[in-house]
Amino acid sequence: MQTAFTAEQLATPRIAEANTILRKCVHCGFCTATCPTYVLLGDELDSPRGRIYLIKNMLESGQPATAGTVKHLDRCLSCLSCMTTCPSGVNYMHLIDDARAHVEETYRRPLFERLLRNLLALTMPRPGLFRLSLIAAKLASPLAPLARSFGARRIPALLDLVPRPLPAPERFGQPGTYPAQGVKKGRVALLMGCVQSVLDPGINAATIRLLTRLGFEVVVAGEESCCGSLTHHMGKEHDALARARRSIDQWIRAGVDHVIITASGCGTTIKDYGHMLRLDPAYAERAQEISARARDITEFLSGLDLPEARGGLRLAYHSACSMQHGQKIKQEPLQLLRRAGFSVMEVPEGHLCCGSAGTYNILQPEIATRLRDRKVANIQKLAPEAIATGNIGCITQIGTGTKIPILHTVELLDWAYGGPRPDKLA
Ligand code: SF4
Ligand code: SF4
Repeated sequence: MQTAFTAEQLATPRIAEANTILRKCVHCGFCTATCPTYVLLGDELDSPRGRIYLIKNMLESGQPATAGTVKHLDRCLSCLSCMTTCPSGVNYMHLIDDARAHVEETYRRPLFERLLRNLLALTMPRPGLFRLSLIAAKLASPLAPLARSFGARRIPALLDLVPRPLPAPERFGQPGTYPAQGVKKGRVALLMGCVQSVLDPGINAATIRLLTRLGFEVVVAGEESCCGSLTHHMGKEHDALARARRSIDQWIRAGVDHVIITASGCGTTIKDYGHMLRLDPAYAERAQEISARARDITEFLSGLDLPEARGGLRLAYHSACSMQHGQKIKQEPLQLLRRAGFSVMEVPEGHLCCGSAGTYNILQPEIATRLRDRKVANIQKLAPEAIATGNIGCITQIGTGTKIPILHTVELLDWAYGGPRPDKLA
């Protein structure tokens, strides 16, 4: 693709990066067929190629983003299915990140939209505050049908996602060091995460149990909250980079071999820290180091010698977009579950997003619900006893559309390798 940035524009790192990415696109349109929003809406402007043109025009103009452009960029799930499909290696992830930062800096959203986004950016990355806001949302949930009858979609969508009952905090997962059992094989840090540690603390507890049983000392850093992924995808760069720096500092201080991540959305961002902080001389090198040490839990477990296991359920495996497209981890979770004795089926149309995508199911509830229903229908065709996946966003999103129990892969592995049977299977 030809671009027409001025020399002055190209002196700006964000524009220089966007220019390099844009020039790789050959307009072939292969990516449109695997883009969930194009598949649903059939509008070229809601396809990767259409959005690439919108971003090019927006950045070349040097003007603030327009409402029309923002509408189509906001509809992008950042699922990165287009990156898996693209034969030219267009880095759409970095391009949409640059575009979102430009939108955030130049576009004034309508008042309600601004308030909602700021509320989400304030509460979700802070586990204590997020828990309080969920309690408040639970009290307000009887009002959801009323709000829906007035045509409001986002508030009911938010209330629908509140788990009932709200899980109690877990004993495992408090800051500290969890000793290895038997011969110590290594020392790892576990990202507790923000949303996951509140919505489903059993995932981190299962991870600590499994890793310590397998001989790893697990460190949970005290000051940790959020890796920055949530605000990064909202274009709030300042907040996201501050959170990334804080995470890097604590993991370097902890002196660990690896950083283990159980939410694939966070994993995609942490593996990108090296890029996000490349222009910060104080952090560039350390950010690279942490990105290189970051491992999804299934990626980490795949490299270990595992004992005999006792799994036995018939599972549908839903591969989160951030897992398969963001981190290119496809076979590891399937192989681990099969090795552990589970019978595992892959979900048809597995490349399409379930509609979760961070805050997307709150900000774009119509599209998110259509994608969820399509995903649930594909899962139900398999008639599984349970669903396995590797991302809290997908667990919450798909869980609102089906009664089939949905668990994190590591909860099933912990059970198969000697841990307690997950309550969700009761
Ligand atoms: S990230 Fe997903 S929704 Fe966005 S353009 Fe690519 S395929 Fe479409
Ligand atoms: S597949 Fe790649 S090169 Fe082709 S239009 Fe999409 S982004 Fe551009």
